[in-house]
Amino acid sequence: MKIHEYQAKQLLRDAGVAVPRGFVADTPQAAVNALYALGGETAVIKAQIHAGGRGKGTIQGNPQQHGVEVVRTSEDAARVATNLLGHTLVTVQTGPGGKVVRRLLVEQGCRIVRELYLGVVVDRASALPVLMASGQGGMEIEQVAAASPELIFRETFRPDAGLQGFQARKLAKSLGLSAAASRRAEVFLKNLCRLFVARDCSLVDINPAVVTAEQELLALDAKMTFDDNALFRQPDLPGLRDLSEEQPAEIRAAEEGLSYVKLDGNIGCLVNGAGLAMSTMDLIQLHGGQPANFLDVGGGANVHQVTEALGILLADANVRAVLVNIFGGIMRCTTIAEAILAAYRSLGFEAPLVVRLEGTEVAEGRRLLAQSGLRITTAESLTDAAQKVVAAT
Ligand code: ADP
Ligand code: MG
Repeated sequence: MKIHEYQAKQLLRDAGVAVPRGFVADTPQAAVNALYALGGETAVIKAQIHAGGRGKGTIQGNPQQHGVEVVRTSEDAARVATNLLGHTLVTVQTGPGGKVVRRLLVEQGCRIVRELYLGVVVDRASALPVLMASGQGGMEIEQVAAASPELIFRETFRPDAGLQGFQARKLAKSLGLSAAASRRAEVFLKNLCRLFVARDCSLVDINPAVVTAEQELLALDAKMTFDDNALFRQPDLPGLRDLSEEQPAEIRAAEEGLSYVKLDGNIGCLVNGAGLAMSTMDLIQLHGGQPANFLDVGGGANVHQVTEALGILLADANVRAVLVNIFGGIMRCTTIAEAILAAYRSLGFEAPLVVRLEGTEVAEGRRLLAQSGLRITTAESLTDAAQKVVAAT
């Protein structure tokens, strides 16, 4: 689960990580009021969407307007807010379709001396969280990592003990911070790492963290992602979810207890079991096709779930053919065959459908499909299924 910058900053503030003062605005008047509340001199208006690259991104049909803008007068604030609210912001991370701006963060403008990068993720190699820091803030950290990895400093830490003082001081030294900024960095970095653990984050990305003219260290941007599997023990986090930022099909699938991830190809896949779903995608690729999605209906899916799953697949305009690949272990092949037939009839299928069934009651399941008189291609093996569905697109 992702959240907006303004929400992440509130969590950071609550955890003792310094962030600039700011207000959320959803009308131009609220943006003007926020400018005054911040002292009326310099504020930064920032479009709130679940994507980065906003500073360089532009509004569709208004290339002059960027997603992050410094304002100094109420006229400026009103104009920028009007340009952003309700309009579509396109950045390198949104894709060409962009994202509609529904809220703004109006923040104290600060006098930046240096921009740093700070990030916490889970390091799979050491199976520990790792704090990464770089003096190359404000730019794409992936580029820094690729071109000059020696400029990224890393400290892993134990989740129970947290980042140690010496580790924070070591990083501050590597980054070349002043004595005053280093003292602040110690508190900042320890609290940042504690927050990462306490909130079950999978990513906290501060790009940039800035050193101000006053030698303060502030998180100027914040991206936070949470581990969905831990949300049950973070009761206040789901309230921060913004469904308008998520794929409608993924929300619908989650409500039905289906694991669905939309992809860019044109072959819809309905499979039971994550391992089988991945092998199915591999085989489609091997035979020259592109899966439109990953979809695991789980071990015990019922007729309703299978109908929903097919509905989700067919609602994707890219889907040209559908491959159903089911191993009847817990599930009976007859159940899945009945579900496919029910879905076929209620959804009014157009796309070619290839079905491969194996396992419990397979003969009976295949017979149901064959006797239905519907345009369903049955396949004998995984390879046969993949070849037939690729040929059908
Ligand atoms: P994004 O990463 O989506 O482009 P950022 O929040 O990183 O958005 O903002 C882009 C740039 O705008 C920052 O690198 C920083 O230089 C500047 N900026 C952002 N917030 C402020 C602020 N409160 N005061 C001064 N400059 C800011
Ligand atoms: Mg940024």
